[in-house]
Amino acid sequence: MQQGGYFVVCVEISGLNTDYEIANMSDYIVLVKQVPDVTQITDNAFDPETGTLVRARLSNVINELDTQALAFANYMKKISKDQKGKIVALTMGPPMAEEVLRHTLSRCADMVVLLTDRALGGADTVATANPIAFAIRKIVKEILKCDNDYYVVAGMQSVDGDTAQVPPQIAEELALPCIAYVTGAEFSNSRFEFTRIISGGSQVVTPRKLPAVITVAKHEYPLFATFARARWANKTDVIQWGSADINATHIGVKGSKTAVIRVFPPGKSSRKCQKISDADSLAKVLIDSFNSSNGETDKGSDAQEGRYVLPCKRKDRFDRSFEGTKKEQEDYEILTNKLKELGITEVSQIDEADREKILVTAGGRFHKKALEDMLNGFKLNETTFKGEVWVVAEHSGGAVHPATFELVGKARDLADSLKSKVGVAVAGYEIEPLAKELIAAGADNIYLIEDKLLRVFDPAAHRKAIADAISTYWPQIVLYAATPQGRMLAPMVSYGVGCGLTADCTGLDIRDNSRNGLVGILLQTRPALGGNVMATIRTKNSKSQMATARPGVMKRLPPDNSRKGRVIKHKVQLSNDDISLEILKTELGTGEVNFGAEVIVSGGKGMQSRDNYERLMGMLCDGLGKKLGTQVERGASRAAVEQGFIERVHQVGQTGTSIGPKIYIALGISGAIQHMIGVATTETIIAINSDPNAPIFKQCDYYIVGTVEDTIPQLVQALETE
Ligand SMILES: Cc1cc2nc3c(=O)[nH]c(=O)nc-3n(C[C@H](O)[C@H](O)[C@H](O)COP(=O)(O)OP(=O)(O)OC[C@H]3O[C@@H](n4cnc5c(N)ncnc54)[C@H](O)[C@@H]3O)c2cc1C
Repeated sequence: MQQGGYFVVCVEISGLNTDYEIANMSDYIVLVKQVPDVTQITDNAFDPETGTLVRARLSNVINELDTQALAFANYMKKISKDQKGKIVALTMGPPMAEEVLRHTLSRCADMVVLLTDRALGGADTVATANPIAFAIRKIVKEILKCDNDYYVVAGMQSVDGDTAQVPPQIAEELALPCIAYVTGAEFSNSRFEFTRIISGGSQVVTPRKLPAVITVAKHEYPLFATFARARWANKTDVIQWGSADINATHIGVKGSKTAVIRVFPPGKSSRKCQKISDADSLAKVLIDSFNSSNGETDKGSDAQEGRYVLPCKRKDRFDRSFEGTKKEQEDYEILTNKLKELGITEVSQIDEADREKILVTAGGRFHKKALEDMLNGFKLNETTFKGEVWVVAEHSGGAVHPATFELVGKARDLADSLKSKVGVAVAGYEIEPLAKELIAAGADNIYLIEDKLLRVFDPAAHRKAIADAISTYWPQIVLYAATPQGRMLAPMVSYGVGCGLTADCTGLDIRDNSRNGLVGILLQTRPALGGNVMATIRTKNSKSQMATARPGVMKRLPPDNSRKGRVIKHKVQLSNDDISLEILKTELGTGEVNFGAEVIVSGGKGMQSRDNYERLMGMLCDGLGKKLGTQVERGASRAAVEQGFIERVHQVGQTGTSIGPKIYIALGISGAIQHMIGVATTETIIAINSDPNAPIFKQCDYYIVGTVEDTIPQLVQALETE
């Protein structure tokens, strides 16, 4: 399974200008990718022996967000009223990926480029972004005739990898501004102004120079193929390039900086997923769940078995129980048992006859070369990577993001295993007061990078500051929160300093891969294919191991104000030219909400209107408050906030607030991952949704299939009589 493997479509965008450059016509390079149809994943898509996904059993489709990116590029062309700009679609993949290019031609693409070569296969995100960036350079030179007024437009992420890493890495390779998580565009004052999602709200920005990379998180106006265009698309030539045509520097498995070491099915959800047939029964389970609550709220935690111990600290020098895979652990167990049986206490005592006896006992599980590698593994005592365990802090308005505290807690755990220190890199302006809280949360050293130009988050300026600190101190591990900010910054920084990156981890653990000469490495576990499989990944060909981790999964340590730490000021040379975006407007949630309440009821887009939200939410919150004798707070999905049902401060989820109440009730909410991340530590989740196949039903404890309009009044009445 590949982490990256992005197919890109290049699109030309027209009509953009900025304060710095006036563009009369822009072109658009749209990146598209062919992906397995994850909606078709059923149990028979998995190999029963290995538990891995058999990709051949799934049909291939165009990545949905890339179709939105294509439509978005077309929309940009339309609103700028410039019909001359070209849309060039680009994909990297096997020859059959030509299908997705024809799809783009039948909608709006003018030209298409297929980057295909066996040598490009097996790539991670670095070895995907790199050749795509080189192909973009060639498109600009040969198709756009070196005209630099262009946008690279891509879907925010693909459903197979879900990393959202490739577009920012392309921006890094091409040294272009990157605007991620875009949900809208306007053409005003002869330039495009983009609305994008940020932590806690949204922002309108424009790039300070062109070209620029844009990743589209949502565009609701699909493009359809006409009969005439479909016929033309089938006859049009697809430009094909191989690896020799683009001269990329990182390709295929060799050019990758991460390696997948294990793929396995996700564990069964700890949620009950129990269907309730009527409002009376729902009222009963709701009251029972509230009364029987035991305060246990860590259903989302990355609990690990047994903390890692360095080889030099193990009681038994042949103890290799911290190998990264079960197979390696078992093989070492066979080996060490046999060594004990033979009375061997030093590797140097093992002679040819002993080797033969060990191989006979192994019964073919491992052969001569593997045995030699395993024996060499016993000689390793030093960790493969050296240095501190770092967290890159996220903060705004003088407050540290909760996900940063969770990561400091995790970093403490990892550093203690490695007998190392926890460092936190913080970039900003007037941020020294944050150091105290970060030390109390578990950090030893705070690396403060202060500059007026870092006052507001700008991807290029912050990337320069953080990359500079990393390449000065070279920590062995760097963790970032998988927030919109972290998921943009981390790929740029890691690519820039030449390191691998694993996105959106839900498990981080230190283990060995002694047979391959690796000790104390970071195993990074993450969901892939829409959560249908889990993959454990390790870093290679890098000086530092980097990962973004999902908010709400790692545990924050209770603050200890007696902890002592050091503040190290790191100076970075920045100038105005390092600022890539002009921020035109920022909208953040304001107001008072008590998300510490024991019961939180959230409304989604399924509430239909602000009036409905007010009426039904008011009725249910009052009824619950009276019956349970506790405060009930109102929450909302991002879609409900965007519809104007309630103010943004009530938003729950990845870019809203993460909560962990005793009872969470989701009304007309589909269960998107960005929403559910925010409620992962809730004790009991109850959902009401009219769609019998709503994804939230697989992630909750109790659910009822019904409309909110019918179910809520019935539930309120049932609560009164219960
Ligand atoms: C970077 C990024 C960050 C994001 N951050 C967040 C975040 O912090 N929080 C968040 O919530 N989302 C976030 N999102 C958006 C997220 O992907 C979803 O789009 C969003 O959660 C959907 O909200 P929803 O479930 O209310 O709407 P929809 O997905 O449209 O679902 C509405 C549901 O209502 C049901 N329904 C319709 N009518 C009725 C009815 N009458 N009665 C009962 N049910 C009905 C439907 O069956 C459907 O399941 C983020 C997205 C991105 C890209």
